[in-house]
Amino acid sequence: RAKEKGKNNFQLYTMSMNDKALERLEMEGSLRRALENKEFIIHYQPKINSESKDIVGFEALIRWQHPELGLVPPGQFIPLAEETGLILGIGDWVLREACLQAKQWQDEGFTNLHVAVNLSSKQFQLQNLTNTISKALAETGLEPRFLELEITESVAMQDVEYTLKVMQDLKQMGIKFSIDDFGTGYSSLSYLKKFTINKLKIDRSFVSEIGSKKDDRAIASTIIALAKSLNLGIVAEGVENQSQYDFLKDSKCDEMQGYLFGKPMPPLEFKRLLDSKRELLEPNQTFLESKQ
Ligand code: C2E
Ligand code: MG
Ligand code: MG
Ligand code: MG
Repeated sequence: RAKEKGKNNFQLYTMSMNDKALERLEMEGSLRRALENKEFIIHYQPKINSESKDIVGFEALIRWQHPELGLVPPGQFIPLAEETGLILGIGDWVLREACLQAKQWQDEGFTNLHVAVNLSSKQFQLQNLTNTISKALAETGLEPRFLELEITESVAMQDVEYTLKVMQDLKQMGIKFSIDDFGTGYSSLSYLKKFTINKLKIDRSFVSEIGSKKDDRAIASTIIALAKSLNLGIVAEGVENQSQYDFLKDSKCDEMQGYLFGKPMPPLEFKRLLDSKRELLEPNQTFLESKQ
């Protein structure tokens, strides 16, 4: 009897394993087709200058417009895309699309707009990233100095020597690097010295409770001070309210990003936001140019 029960349990177990494997396989299949079917879209989130509140650039954030599931956030498919290598095709698409969009808005008068694109570690490891990026820039006509690549600490820590080499090549072209989610990884600070980084992004988790937690205020202002003393730019992510803005501005954080200034939004909406800022200016004075 016990044996039979054990057997049944085993069957149940394998069944659910099969279900999971099947679901994964289905998901992988539809992810594989998503690129051909043009199911990916990019939302753009403004980055603002803390002093002037001008839009200085935007971050490209991918979404999957799934025919049945609706809008799927990146957290739900990027890990699978990384495991299967599909991230290469997807990452390449995001890069081109985002560069093209930046170039278009620049041509429409927003001449200094920067674009930030998130990179996965696989994009460093499984392809010639320098090639991919030079091609994307050449084909879209965007100048390299307007492209910023966001990597996490863990990306920088994988295969250090090779990553370092790729980053140096890209840096030589004029491309900028920022460390995303700064302060949440396991790496030592020594990599800040080693890698050619331009900017730190304070993780949202330190920003969200700036208003109520003394420790979070201490961490945020210490990261800002660290960036300043290393001559790095500094941007805070996840800024949602005025008191967070006030604290970060007083702490001399250069740039901010968050729902307070705009959620990630479709291109048309982002363009409307840009235009609404332009209307505040004198005729024939170009937004962003006027600041110089
Ligand atoms: P991330 O690069 O740290 O992006 C910031 C995330 O915080 C985004 O989530 C954004 O929508 C969200 N966010 C921005 N402002 C606020 C705010 O004020 N409050 C709150 N609560 N959230 C805010 P999203 O779009 O779901 O992206 C999640 C992550 O997926 C990104 O984190 C990034 O690591 C990854 N990701 C997105 N697009 C790409 C891509 O094209 N390639 C790769 N490799 N990863 C991507
Ligand atoms: Mg990012
Ligand atoms: Mg981030
Ligand atoms: Mg994040």
